[in-house]
Amino acid sequence: MTIGSVDGVNSPAITYLDHAASTPMRAEAVEAMMPYLRDQYANPSGSHRFARQARQAIDESRDRVAAVLGCHPNEVVFTGCGTESDNMAITGAVGRIGGVAVCSAVEHHAVLEVVEHHHGAVVGVDAAGRVDLDELAATLDRIVADDRPVAIVSVMAVNNEVGSINDLPAVARIVRRHAPGALVHTDAVQAACWLDLRTVTPHVDLLSLSAHKFGGPKGVGVLVERGGPRVDPLIIGGGQERERRSGTHNTAGIVAMATALELTDAERDVERLRLTELRDQLVKGLQAALDGVTETVPAADKVAGAAHVCIADIESEALLYLLDEADVCASAASACASGAMEPSHVLAAMGVSRELAIGALRMSLGHTTTEDDVHRGIEVVVDAVTTLRRGATT
Ligand code: PLP
Repeated sequence: MTIGSVDGVNSPAITYLDHAASTPMRAEAVEAMMPYLRDQYANPSGSHRFARQARQAIDESRDRVAAVLGCHPNEVVFTGCGTESDNMAITGAVGRIGGVAVCSAVEHHAVLEVVEHHHGAVVGVDAAGRVDLDELAATLDRIVADDRPVAIVSVMAVNNEVGSINDLPAVARIVRRHAPGALVHTDAVQAACWLDLRTVTPHVDLLSLSAHKFGGPKGVGVLVERGGPRVDPLIIGGGQERERRSGTHNTAGIVAMATALELTDAERDVERLRLTELRDQLVKGLQAALDGVTETVPAADKVAGAAHVCIADIESEALLYLLDEADVCASAASACASGAMEPSHVLAAMGVSRELAIGALRMSLGHTTTEDDVHRGIEVVVDAVTTLRRGATT
């Protein structure tokens, strides 16, 4: 995909392989939001006709989002982002139910840090990044045996770094059996492009989404609360969203999110096939041209957009620098702490050795990815890795 002009300045052609970080807005979503930025700017909480029109747009969007998620419109709470939805689920459950929050070790920081903040429990994962179901059951048993309630169990639908998919029906079954009072939450922020959410929602009590991961704008998300209010609100004040989430509605963002979600849902099956092929081409292309390229999670266990590899004998920070120089956008999810590369918490939890994890490269594909992107991605990564390896031996 070529990214055209930014503020009238033509930027060079970008090869964008970072869709898991944020995917470009769909043109239809941009179109859908414009009237609410330009003309219908009234505060939807107002009482005049102009305000009622904005409120109607929000209600219609709620119906459209609910239809894709397979829930009742009253169960949809519009939030400010995926991070807020995750925080509301966990902090709100601990506030309402009390007791211990539990999550998997590979959750996004929007979940993991909140669980740790509440002194919760973290459950390990297998080599593919899926929660260890036996360990989950044992952890719940241990908490219950200590006479503490489990407030919430949060297990992500799809991992944002390596793309692995959790078996949420199995997770829910274990929670219902071992900690029947606990709520089941899933961070489905990375799932909308790949999973039919109607097959996910019925198994959980709470589900988080974020619009900018599926072609909507940044700064708008959803928390589904199945069966009515399940957790304390995080933001109180004006009483919007039936007291679930105060703050003036982002009308334009909500309308655009509904449009993007419907399109994503309609195109999912075709896109999944198309991108599986491109993803496999990308990974196989790198493996054919370079020694020491390990696909972190096998294709069968992950979503189509995830092309995460560990490349031997290089450091991802240096690789990303060279990719950036060549206008290829990717990421690594390693943190550079006090000058030393720290492997990502996801790879560490999966048992990937530090040596391999240091060379992690996350390339993620999405709705604008083309075969040209894949060819250019291979060419630039191969060049950069060859340069780095040559440098290391001279
Ligand atoms: N959860 C997951 C799995 C994510 O990938 C992200 C974003 O990267 C978030 C939560 C946070 O979403 P947002 O950027 O809308 O705050």
